[in-house]
Amino acid sequence: MTKFDYDLFVIGAGSGGVRAARIAAQHGAKVAVAEEYRVGGTCVIRGCVPKKLFVYASHYAEAFEDAVNFGWTTEKVAFDWPTLVANKDKEIDRLNKAYIRNLEGAGAELIMARAAFEDRYTIALSDGRRVSAKYVLIATGATPFVPLHLPGREFAITSNEAFHLESLPQRICIVGGGYIAVEFAGIFNNLGVETVLIHRGEKILRGFDEDLRDHLTNEMKKKGIEFRLSCDVARIERSGTGVRVTCNDDAVFGAGQIMYATGRIPNVLGLELEKIGVELTPHYAVKVDDYSRSSVDNIYAVGDVTNRLNLTPVAIREGHAFADTVFGGRDIKVDHTNVPTAVFSQPEIGTVGMTEAQARAASPTIDIYKTSFRPMRHTITGRDERMLMKLVVDGGTDKVLGCHIVGPDAGEMAQLLGIAVKMGATKADFDATMALHPTAAEELVTMRQKWTG
Ligand code: NDP
Repeated sequence: MTKFDYDLFVIGAGSGGVRAARIAAQHGAKVAVAEEYRVGGTCVIRGCVPKKLFVYASHYAEAFEDAVNFGWTTEKVAFDWPTLVANKDKEIDRLNKAYIRNLEGAGAELIMARAAFEDRYTIALSDGRRVSAKYVLIATGATPFVPLHLPGREFAITSNEAFHLESLPQRICIVGGGYIAVEFAGIFNNLGVETVLIHRGEKILRGFDEDLRDHLTNEMKKKGIEFRLSCDVARIERSGTGVRVTCNDDAVFGAGQIMYATGRIPNVLGLELEKIGVELTPHYAVKVDDYSRSSVDNIYAVGDVTNRLNLTPVAIREGHAFADTVFGGRDIKVDHTNVPTAVFSQPEIGTVGMTEAQARAASPTIDIYKTSFRPMRHTITGRDERMLMKLVVDGGTDKVLGCHIVGPDAGEMAQLLGIAVKMGATKADFDATMALHPTAAEELVTMRQKWTG
């Protein structure tokens, strides 16, 4: 008979927490999960899922235009934002219920309350209860960050609010140059909102391959997005029903909304971690080892709250590995290398492995293969859009170290390329693979000429 109420208490019912809870319960553990808002976490409720639905919605704008040269008549085409928001909400409700069913089906108890540590084994719940657990998993995710000392920050929205706008503004300023900024810039721009992207850096998407960054910027500009690079917002003021945005170079923008996408910070506030000695990194993430164990040995953390690789499938893997290791008698570490990722910008990015710069820093013999071409459908639509594909190859071992794509379905391609890169495929393996014609992806196995610049 255990002296604890639970074997495992999970704080946060997002992707990582729910997976850990389900697997631990399947291993026979007595599990409870506390959630203060809705089950599903950022990805399902206000991240990947609603964002991708918005991306699909915004694609129709170009699809209707392009259809004309394929013989379609598309008069009286109109877009209704409230319909999209309502249908998106319906899907989120469905997923929220499915997550609850899955959790309860696995035998985990769901507690709708906020949780905080009293000591390393005791959790105080906002419904007044106090429970104990042998192990605690922190899976509280992260939250959008708006610079604290920005005058007028209260007038800025973040992606959280963008999912629930009552109407689309005529013009929007988006601040930031990361995943969320470029994705929402594409969504709003395609839905007919004049879009200005303001970023403090010289280029968007720091950390991505340079060719990708340049190519995407160019394509986004062609679609009508205005870029203000090397530019910081000095202040935001209310102006009528909208905002007046002043930059540090004195440029002024009037807009219906300003959206900040300047990163996310781990949700640790109010957990009382300092009281029990759980160490944080300088960026307020829970510091963990390879097994997701914190500095307090019965307390673990997975997902965005650990700020390792802030991607849903990574959080799920971390949660699963934790549950298998602690409750399933298996010793599993998550491999965070060669994780494929997509940015659902327009056009889309798909990438896996090393950038050219990373590869050159690691090896003196790097070969680059790259091509840029007009996707076949645009030979008829006449749209001036180009696709980019790039392979980074170790000239010594012939291993493909990185694949980088900008263009339609780049994310789908990156998922499959991820298998090849993970397996250690060589350029010769790529070359030996028969092309699939006519596709864009066939370029990946037909590039023979090394790029000499
Ligand atoms: P990112 O960390 O990707 O980007 C933050 C951006 O904001 C950077 O361009 C950064 O500039 C800039 N920035 C940071 N602080 C400031 C500041 N004080 N003033 C002005 N600019 C600033 O964050 P996101 O919010 O875009 O996304 C958060 C995370 O969510 C991502 O890292 C990603 O892991 C995940 N995500 C994944 C998606 C996907 O898989 N498709 C989609 C959306 C999110 P600088 O480069 O100069 O630091």
